[in-house]
Amino acid sequence: MTAVLPGSTLGVVGGGQLGRMFVHAAQRMGYLTAVLDPDADSPAGRVSHHHIHTDYADVDGLARLAGLADAITTEFENVPAASLEHLAVARPVRPGATAVSIAQDRVREKSHFVGCGVDCAPYAVIESAEQVALVPPNLLPGILKTARLGYDGKGQQRVDSREELAAAWHRAGQVPCVLEKLLPLDFECSVIVARGHDGQIVHFPPQRNLHRGGILAVTEVHANNIPESAARLSIESAVAIAEGLQYVGVLCVEFFVLADGSLVVNEMAPRPHNSGHWTLDACDVSQFELQVRTLAGLPLNPPRQHSPALMLNLLGDLWFPEDEPKAIQPRWADVLALPGAHLHLYGKAEARRGRKMGHLTITGDDIEAIRSTADFAAALLGLPIPLSE
Ligand code: ATP
Ligand code: MG
Repeated sequence: MTAVLPGSTLGVVGGGQLGRMFVHAAQRMGYLTAVLDPDADSPAGRVSHHHIHTDYADVDGLARLAGLADAITTEFENVPAASLEHLAVARPVRPGATAVSIAQDRVREKSHFVGCGVDCAPYAVIESAEQVALVPPNLLPGILKTARLGYDGKGQQRVDSREELAAAWHRAGQVPCVLEKLLPLDFECSVIVARGHDGQIVHFPPQRNLHRGGILAVTEVHANNIPESAARLSIESAVAIAEGLQYVGVLCVEFFVLADGSLVVNEMAPRPHNSGHWTLDACDVSQFELQVRTLAGLPLNPPRQHSPALMLNLLGDLWFPEDEPKAIQPRWADVLALPGAHLHLYGKAEARRGRKMGHLTITGDDIEAIRSTADFAAALLGLPIPLSE
């Protein structure tokens, strides 16, 4: 394959914050960009040279994207695989429709993990009332997850008994689901790899992640953030999962580290990931630049982290403190007075609770100093403190 060089146009299906940061990275390197997203006011569409606002399955919109862009990627995994297949007839599409469709479906995703020799949480597929009745008791208590279209903890229900499982599956609309055993988590981590069309593979250091209410809240990356053996195994597992898919692009694999120290894969995202946003400010090459390079068929270099980092997600809740009658403007100027504070806001017109509005990365000399700066920032913004709980 010949490289798609700067001056060409790169396309992305999806116009959220991930698309926006992809567009920024592509434009910095001299590319033009085209975004397909139905929202006329999407974060990526607002900063892109071209913005096609049609549905992701609109044949005319897809044809316009393929007409404008020399290579096309996606920024979220719920783009219909058929749309990617359609685009792939005309243009290179990375990652390909097959990898994306596996990541879209927890049942196929788990089979892929097992096939790569990577352990996942014990689970059962739930597609019928018989399967509910036959669920092995050792999977309870568990979490019922819809096989498709879940994100940020949506589509998940904790169940303690077979009766609760039956009711939860009913509430889920009896769509295909997986029941996963509820595991005793010590902590969570993720690894981002980038794989080129020639099979070259590079990765970022494992990220330690804290979720609140099913949504990523804090990511920390520094020496010894994760025990050595878990770090090594998580990287090896992410590489095996990418290679098993013949993947081309940026892939994030999320893991659980259990109380006994063992590592279990949770899920993968066929795109840059929220837990990799720190790479924009603390690495010489960000996850979005690697997305551009893998899409364009350019060489990859192993990224180098030049500073420890802590990232705080900024949700719409910050605009709605408890005792304020109407939405406030968070204290950005005060936050930006803190050393090593890097503010990223996604340009979303309206703040809503639970909506990802931006993130704040703190860099510095050592993690203790960074944590105390992050505590200050959290206090200014009304985020829960301490950050580690
Ligand atoms: P996203 O796509 O935003 O990462 P999601 O909706 O796909 O989220 P999961 O990653 O499956 O959801 O789960 C969200 C969080 O719920 C996990 O990060 C973890 O904190 C918790 N969780 C999920 N499954 C289990 C489990 N089997 N045992 C214990 N905790 C779990
Ligand atoms: Mg997840």
